Amino acid sequence: LVDRATRAGDTVVRVGDVLVGEGFVVMAGPCSVESPEQIFAAARAVRDAGAHVLRGGVFKPRTSPYAFQGLGWEGLELLAAAGKEAGLPIVTEVMAVEQVARMAETADILQVGARNMQNFDLLRALGRVDRPVLLKRGLSSTIDEWLAAAEYILSAGNQQVILCERGIRTFESATRNTLDLSAVPVLRERTHLPIIVDPSHGTGNRRYVDPMSRAARAVGSHGLLIEVHPEPDTALSDADQSIDFRQFAALMGGLADG
Ligand code: PEP
Ligand code: MN
Repeated sequence: LVDRATRAGDTVVRVGDVLVGEGFVVMAGPCSVESPEQIFAAARAVRDAGAHVLRGGVFKPRTSPYAFQGLGWEGLELLAAAGKEAGLPIVTEVMAVEQVARMAETADILQVGARNMQNFDLLRALGRVDRPVLLKRGLSSTIDEWLAAAEYILSAGNQQVILCERGIRTFESATRNTLDLSAVPVLRERTHLPIIVDPSHGTGNRRYVDPMSRAARAVGSHGLLIEVHPEPDTALSDADQSIDFRQFAALMGGLADG
């Protein structure tokens, strides 16, 4: 079902008034929802800079069990309220099958994180809801494995899948991950599903987010997922790769200039 040959044109995923797969869509916001002040400020700032969707994690897949785990359902309410005030749909990560139904009531897009790309029970559960799914590429997954993961969702009934390249593990240690931008033209050839790029997790370094955003657009990505925080250095997760409001506005301006 994911194969380009099975459809006439490209899949366009509709999220409110936002069309993912047509034009260029930017999803932005903090790695994690941390407080009302933080998420409301981020929502307004990314909206004013031209973002189309507000992101924010509330259930966080952290490497250490002692690291900040997110605000949970309370965080989801804050994210929804901030998105509503700014007039932006919201995307947040769903980590477990038990969270799917409740999260689908509030979130406009359900994100599957890299660590859960092959959580087949979760993928099947997401295949049964009427909500777009943002499927991130697994930490060490091939494009074939990634497309097979998307197939789980489509074959269970949900055709609204957006792929997100977020970098893969390689021997290179100068960046957190190696952002595989060649995946974009490969996927555009192989599937009708929209594909966006996350240069924040892809590089792990805020200085590289702007150049890799422009590169992502140049290779044909349908959009971006970017971590933006009012005070990046104080962020409770992914501080090093988060950009501030001014940097985000400059990035958006650069994209508009071509
Ligand atoms: C995130 O978007 O904050 C996240 C945890 O991403 P990934 O699953 O790509 O690491
Ligand atoms: Mn993050």
